[in-house]
Amino acid sequence: MNKEKVKCLIIGSGPAGYTAAIYASRSNLNPILLEGMQPGGQLTITTEIENYPGYPDGITGTEMMQDLRRQSERVGADIRTDIVNKVSLKEYPFIAETDSGKVYEAESIIISTGASAKWLGLESETKYRGMGVSACATCDGFFYKNQEVAVVGGGDTACEEATFLSNICSKVYLIVRRDELRASQIMRDRVMKNPKIEVLWNHKPIEVLGDKQGVNGVMLENTKTGDLKQITVTGFFLAIGHHPNSDMFKGVIDTDANGYIITKNGTTHTNIPGVFAAGDVQDSNYRQAITAAGSGCKAAMDAERFLISRD
Ligand code: NDP
Repeated sequence: MNKEKVKCLIIGSGPAGYTAAIYASRSNLNPILLEGMQPGGQLTITTEIENYPGYPDGITGTEMMQDLRRQSERVGADIRTDIVNKVSLKEYPFIAETDSGKVYEAESIIISTGASAKWLGLESETKYRGMGVSACATCDGFFYKNQEVAVVGGGDTACEEATFLSNICSKVYLIVRRDELRASQIMRDRVMKNPKIEVLWNHKPIEVLGDKQGVNGVMLENTKTGDLKQITVTGFFLAIGHHPNSDMFKGVIDTDANGYIITKNGTTHTNIPGVFAAGDVQDSNYRQAITAAGSGCKAAMDAERFLISRD
């Protein structure tokens, strides 16, 4: 068996994982970071990041993640492209098995697996995924140049995606299930002032319509009256939030009702000593790049202290 011992294993990239790797490397923990399914995490599929301190002109998520990755490698982190598929946290050292067949014996683990986009759960949504249905306007918006599209959701992501698409598409419907947006004031204002965005209040999609070519419309239901309304669009973008990637740790690591890992008293400690959690997988509240990076730093410091306490 392809076994390897490691002091600090970081599962998942993104601002939390990379920052944990920077701090753990500089504390001589010789961390190995396994990048997972989406190297760089969710920020690689966002647009411009304007609110991360230190970038007065903004920066794209992809560039920021490349910089963080480079920085963690420069200080000594061992970054590997691999996916953890099984962990045993009841024995010590902890065991993590990966898709490539590696088995890691880890003295400490930092979970920074992030969160993934939610889907509505409609059969037609699955049918047309990749044929007009997408959860990432930044990735796929380009394909809908001068076409009419719809975005579902009323949060910051939905507003951001609708605004982004309005620069590419001829018209953007924003489908909101209530009569108000959850998004921050600045994002709400941007949407309301944008002549290319039409907000459809109190509506929810009940079916994505299409043919062999892909999506050609969406059937909506009025959430107040039950009336049906059909819109003609070729792109259908979901922006209805995220769920934490904590399934692998279910039953062993304590989570809240929505699956977010519970960390103790402002630290990154989980219920298992030596296992720490950072970033969106443990944060249902702030979910920002800067807060994720901050918690990655805390996780590496907590891991270092844990390891010292065992020496
Ligand atoms: P949110 O959870 O904030 O919003 C999700 C939206 O989707 C809500 O409007 C919700 O409606 C709606 N929704 C959820 N489920 C359904 C459903 N089944 N059908 C229809 N609508 C649905 O998620 P976001 O991804 O927008 O934001 C997550 C976090 O990231 C927030 O803290 C946000 O502030 C932050 N963020 C910040 C950005 C920035 O600062 N530039 C950019 C993007 C995100 P309802 O309101 O009725 O619950």
